[in-house]
Amino acid sequence: MSDLNQYINEITNIVGFDGVLTNDKKQYETDWRNRYSNHCIAVTLPSTIEQISTILKLSSIYKVGVIPQGGNTSLCGASVPNNSGKPQIILNLRHLNKIINIDINNQSLTVEAGCTLDKVIDYAKQNGLYFPLSIASSGSCQIGGNIATNAGGIHVIKYGMMRDLVLGLEVCLADGSIINQLQSLKKNNTFFDLKQLFIGSEGTLGIITKASLKLYPQPDRYFTAMCGVNDLSTACLLLNSLNKYYNLCAFEIINPQTREIYNKHFRPMGVTAPWVILFEIETYSEFSLEELVNKLGELTIDLDNIILASNENERQNLWHIRETIPIAEKMEGVAVKHDISLPISNIDEFIKTNESNILKHYPDAQIIIFGHLGDGNLHYNIRFKNMDYNQLQNSEAEINNIVYTDVYKYNGSFSAEHGVGMLKKYWMSKYYDSRSYQLALSIKKLLDPNDILNPEKVF
Ligand SMILES: Cc1cc2nc3c(=O)[nH]c(=O)nc-3n(C[C@H](O)[C@H](O)[C@H](O)COP(=O)(O)OP(=O)(O)OC[C@H]3O[C@@H](n4cnc5c(N)ncnc54)[C@H](O)[C@@H]3O)c2cc1C
Repeated sequence: MSDLNQYINEITNIVGFDGVLTNDKKQYETDWRNRYSNHCIAVTLPSTIEQISTILKLSSIYKVGVIPQGGNTSLCGASVPNNSGKPQIILNLRHLNKIINIDINNQSLTVEAGCTLDKVIDYAKQNGLYFPLSIASSGSCQIGGNIATNAGGIHVIKYGMMRDLVLGLEVCLADGSIINQLQSLKKNNTFFDLKQLFIGSEGTLGIITKASLKLYPQPDRYFTAMCGVNDLSTACLLLNSLNKYYNLCAFEIINPQTREIYNKHFRPMGVTAPWVILFEIETYSEFSLEELVNKLGELTIDLDNIILASNENERQNLWHIRETIPIAEKMEGVAVKHDISLPISNIDEFIKTNESNILKHYPDAQIIIFGHLGDGNLHYNIRFKNMDYNQLQNSEAEINNIVYTDVYKYNGSFSAEHGVGMLKKYWMSKYYDSRSYQLALSIKKLLDPNDILNPEKVF
């Protein structure tokens, strides 16, 4: 019997036949965007932390790569096998999905890492509390994946990223040992806050098995509005002015080209100004809609060209427009996609400079911009009419270079919320400060000396 057969037999002894797939693995091996689809020797579906620990010990001994996988919604190929040809297994966490406990007075919730984000949001809501992470993949993505990617979404402007919502973690390391930092404390200065290392580590340093999460009071009501402005600098002014009076929980932007594509594939958005804005306010007490409308008028927003959601249904309709944009974009064809962030004060200049640089090289390019202006994160995608994926691939590296050169010129980042994965490894080695890169590599070698955890990703 070969070593690998022996390894699979030992894993099967731990998780049982139902917990190991050696056939019908395609859906686990293929990423969300259908960009990567490589072979793994097995998919394992452990349901206890002890099983995960033993799988990692065995994988270290047999030198088999382990790809931690949550909902497999990564947009940068982080959660699927690489094409190195070295043996790898996928360790999918969906069976580790228990709610452990909720502490209402402490406003905290402890869960296993395989709970979907929707399960966590719903459980908090049933208990009168609120978990504010809001991303369109919430039905599939898991809390462990959200932590491993330090997920963002639409509420970062008010609640921060996933890192700001984590109170404690339990993590299984490559040698099978377990780090317990699972307390639900809001203050804890006992030396290094080691759990932070694993938040955003994309499965390269350990497997997150449990998390304690910060909850908030459930907002009484939402006020959601869609309005329009003529240009991006006015949008940035509006953001700052509104934030002075109201604690905004979302402020999204949609550029004219994106609106055009959406209108073509769905129906007219309803707001006709070139740049469309969707913003939201959560309220806990008396709130005057009249005062908000007056304020928007003072800020020179055209009040005849605005949609105000006056009930939950209308609110969901407005958010549905925003969430459907990636689908409209997909229907229109392929694009070179970027998930960038910039200081808000530099965004207008960046777009003007970069648009002109892209159009100089690619006069037919269409620049699709939408995303979370409130926290400086844009989805910035370059597409061409009538171009297929193979043709686009020939230009991808050059387009990325033009975009990222300007992103860094304006002090931004090539990876705002989706992570690095396989897709952006090259840019990581180019733009991550070199001494920090060496230090990160040393930490990886210390925690995972056999390089079994998510090999060939990030580094
Ligand atoms: C329609 C759509 C909308 C999206 N919108 C947003 C958005 O607004 N904001 C945003 O930030 N992201 C967004 N994403 C990206 C994605 O949903 C997030 O990155 C999410 O946090 C990934 O969670 P997951 O469970 O699917 O993780 P996976 O995709 O399975 O894995 C992602 C990474 O985490 C690692 N990992 C997974 N689970 C664990 C674990 N338990 N322990 C250690 N490592 C682990 C994997 O190895 C991989 O490196 C979107 C994706 C889609 C498809």
